Amino acid sequence: MKSVTVIGASLAGLYAARALRAQGYDGHLTIVGAEQHLPYDRPPLSKGFLTAPATAPDTAPDTGTPSAETASAEAQLALTDAEEIAGLDAAWLLGTRATGLDPHRRAIRLDTGRTLTTDGVVLATGAAPRRLPGPAPAGSHTLRTLDDARALRADLTGGGPARVVVIGGGFIGAEVAASCAALGHQVTVVEAAPLPLVPQLGYTMAELCARLHGDHGVALLTGTGVRGLHSAGGDDRVTAVELADGRLLPADVVVTGIGVRPATGWLEGSGLPLGDGVRCDAGCVTTIPAVVAAGDVAQVAGARAEHWTNATEQAATAVHNLLAGHTARTHHALPYFWSDQYGVRIQFAGRYRPGDVPRIVEGSPDDRSFLARYERDGRTTAVLALNRPRPFMRLRRELARAVQPAATA
Ligand SMILES: Cc1cc2nc3c(=O)[nH]c(=O)nc-3n(C[C@H](O)[C@H](O)[C@H](O)COP(=O)(O)OP(=O)(O)OC[C@H]3O[C@@H](n4cnc5c(N)ncnc54)[C@H](O)[C@@H]3O)c2cc1C
Repeated sequence: MKSVTVIGASLAGLYAARALRAQGYDGHLTIVGAEQHLPYDRPPLSKGFLTAPATAPDTAPDTGTPSAETASAEAQLALTDAEEIAGLDAAWLLGTRATGLDPHRRAIRLDTGRTLTTDGVVLATGAAPRRLPGPAPAGSHTLRTLDDARALRADLTGGGPARVVVIGGGFIGAEVAASCAALGHQVTVVEAAPLPLVPQLGYTMAELCARLHGDHGVALLTGTGVRGLHSAGGDDRVTAVELADGRLLPADVVVTGIGVRPATGWLEGSGLPLGDGVRCDAGCVTTIPAVVAAGDVAQVAGARAEHWTNATEQAATAVHNLLAGHTARTHHALPYFWSDQYGVRIQFAGRYRPGDVPRIVEGSPDDRSFLARYERDGRTTAVLALNRPRPFMRLRRELARAVQPAATA
């Protein structure tokens, strides 16, 4: 294989580039990224990036120019450095969007009008936030990119205490709510389901996590959807969130965190099977062996994940199989994610299915510090911890060993 093009210059794209070079690939490598920035780390965007104090500028990880207010916040986003970028020996086409793919010819159309032809393709275009229907007035935000986070941070740190409404009580919504509360804002989380995070954690554990909002003075309104946003004034700023039951919540800032869609729109008409993401086999390989996918955009053996560790692990598997020319290795890693809310680190490994029974094996929910095993038919299926990182890692390793024999094919 003489040339490989990675589409998506973020976590999975960077890890794919690293894996290509680490696995001995020495051909041409091109990385196409819609954002202007070199790869940076997204998890801090909803956490420390929003709450970091404004200080003098220092080093920033991207090619854009941060303001003095955001420079120190941006230092925590570093995912790579100039030395590594040079070592990867790749052509970076940043601020460039892929608009179409002919997978048989491996021809990639770009929004610059150029078409790249290549021997191998890694699809790593991630996901984009779902939006509420209707216009998005000033002061209303979604959060996926550094530019989104810069705009939100400016709204949250520009004046005094504000009324913030977070729409969606999932992990991103909860983290943003916690960050806003830490900044001294009056925060309300609106969740359409009777309780947030039940699909991920099950009812009992989701209820324990939801208590964190109340602990920190954040109001959680559940079982109510949102009809739309109200705005007024010359700058058309958001003034309120209208709930499905007609209630109006006054708001100065609104953050919508109602999930994401895999970024596959540009692949419509390519002939690649698309479902909830780019459909791949268990080795991250599409129906064309020279086209593989990894990260939030990839639906691998029927499942798509939206977690940091998944994106990094799949990239290595995808690249291995791309270079092999067939599915030589499959991805069976134990799912893992973390979330930081209100000073509590939530960690989860494994797969929760309805009917799995959680059992607290250490610590106490009252202290917001415990370790729980999920069990089914006497077997551990998943592990959850709140502020118990060490014992969690032990159980996570135990559980991973149980799935390990299937890891290579
Ligand atoms: C605010 C926030 C907080 C998070 N916190 C956590 C956490 O605490 N724990 C955890 O496990 N996970 C967390 N995640 C999830 C984690 O960051 C993602 O799983 C990870 O970023 C996925 O990486 P990816 O490379 O697949 O996709 P992305 O990071 O979405 O990158 C895809 C890239 O492709 C680009 N792109 C899209 N379409 C095109 C195109 N047509 N042409 C060229 N480029 C394109 C995009 O602009 C983007 O830069 C968080 C995510 C966010 C947004």
